[in-house]
Amino acid sequence: MIAAHEALERLRVGNRRFVSGTRGRESLASQAHRPELADGQAPFAIILGCADSRVPAEIVFDQGLGDLFVIRVAGNIVAPSQVGSVEFAAAQYGTRLVVVLGHSQCGAILATLEELKRPSERQSRNLRSIVNRIRPSVEPLLAEHGHDPVALVRDAVRANVRVSANQLRHGSEVLEDLIQGQGLMVVGAEYSLETGVVDFFDVAAD
Ligand SMILES: [Zn+2]
Repeated sequence: MIAAHEALERLRVGNRRFVSGTRGRESLASQAHRPELADGQAPFAIILGCADSRVPAEIVFDQGLGDLFVIRVAGNIVAPSQVGSVEFAAAQYGTRLVVVLGHSQCGAILATLEELKRPSERQSRNLRSIVNRIRPSVEPLLAEHGHDPVALVRDAVRANVRVSANQLRHGSEVLEDLIQGQGLMVVGAEYSLETGVVDFFDVAAD
């Protein structure tokens, strides 16, 4: 089992490789491990990330087959099936690090801000269920940053990541037990589409 801090360091180092345009030997060679991975997995980190095509976790952290347990959903929201997926991986595989990975210019955040400014009747019920989960974390920012759209989007992305991370920290008995007794850590991060850098800005020690 890999401790949370060590897992976090692996992700930081992998992201540095990605930013500098190099690939690690291990991630390149990981396809050779496919036969043994068929017998079991031990991912060292769980990533709850956005479905955006520009933010594939395995690539931006330069990891290979079997390294990351990745859950992707527009706006990296936390609904029961996401919590269940994190619980499953943490309990089943002993994975000790969970990263909520948002990103700059997230379309789900932009859609939520748009909906708050100009509510539309035509939005589908399914899309609305995503917007409704993002809305509470970004709504208070509208009054604060109404005049500054760049700051508004930037802060809304981070507020949404913080809320998702806190929902995982406090919204599941299974995860709370693992945090308190087994060293599970939930951190929030933002990937920059512009630079490729992942900023782990919410590494709360609670
Ligand atoms: Zn997104």
